Amino acid sequence: MSDLHLPTFDDVVAAAERIAGYANKTPVMTSRTVNAAFGADVFFKCENFQRMGAFKFRGAMNALLQFSDEQKAAGVVTFSSGNHAQAIALAAKLLGIPATIIMPHDAPAAKVAATRGYGGNVVEYHRYTEDREQIGRDLAKRQGLTLIPPYDHPHVIAGQGTAAKELLEETGELDALFVCLGGGGLLSGSALSTRRLSPACKIYGVEPLAGNDGQQSLRSGNIVHIDTPKTIADGAQTQHLGNYTFPIIRRHVDDILTVTDDDLIDAMRFFAERMKMVVEPTGCLGFAAARNLRESLRGKRIGIIISGGNVDISRYSAFLAGHV
Ligand SMILES: *Cc1c(COP(=O)(O)O)cnc(C)c1O
Repeated sequence: MSDLHLPTFDDVVAAAERIAGYANKTPVMTSRTVNAAFGADVFFKCENFQRMGAFKFRGAMNALLQFSDEQKAAGVVTFSSGNHAQAIALAAKLLGIPATIIMPHDAPAAKVAATRGYGGNVVEYHRYTEDREQIGRDLAKRQGLTLIPPYDHPHVIAGQGTAAKELLEETGELDALFVCLGGGGLLSGSALSTRRLSPACKIYGVEPLAGNDGQQSLRSGNIVHIDTPKTIADGAQTQHLGNYTFPIIRRHVDDILTVTDDDLIDAMRFFAERMKMVVEPTGCLGFAAARNLRESLRGKRIGIIISGGNVDISRYSAFLAGHV
């Protein structure tokens, strides 16, 4: 894949300038309870307070702001059942670009409604019999739409990297950073920022135990493909890393860790009870892993990216009540 033009930190800097005024500069929060339990200084970058509720708005906005006039007129297409769909729909709406979102026919009604609410044109497909990436490519070709995938795109990666850039500019250098991992857009972008702004910082990706393709990929040196994993972390149910994200992760990331769904529920409860924050299961990955490692983090300065807060409220309350 040496012919790919991989994004660099300069692209993250350009993305930050481009999306300023559209994206929120999200708060960095601390908790005395966490600091005492860890014996460390822990900084949470709260992308659950990003527009549309997750960091995905950063990458989507950075990609759409680089469309030519022809691309803007024809429109954008993407495939996603989750936060990327809403991010593209919102970014497109803000820029007056038509957006087509390919979603599974059995996607949660709330997510379809949210995507439609932002003005997205939803096209349904059958997840067990049809290939969403193929549908996306066909639509792009037939209707002249520009395909912006959820993670494997240089403009998306550069946009996602702006969250860690903001965090490090606020905290100064850190000893370790924990980042939620699905297809690796957030992790690879975060790695670009971290390697420049805090070169000695350990960078950890965190994925659900049931879907540890990233860990297998990092250890084997090749992109490992898996079946859609069964986990409550729906934002990390990706089947493989990307051709852009993997080389960056391989080069800069120290390790990929895993946590169980029970770890995620414990973290979700902690955020609700102690920090008064609604965090979706996938958004808890980084904190859950750091908690498991806390003995080894004593005396250190730790960054944790909370990636999003979009969770169906009845599902969320079932998690908190221990019914899931
Ligand atoms: C998409 C998403 C992730 C995973 O991001 P990748 O860039 O695919 O690794 C993590 N958390 C949330 C809330 C997400 O929406």
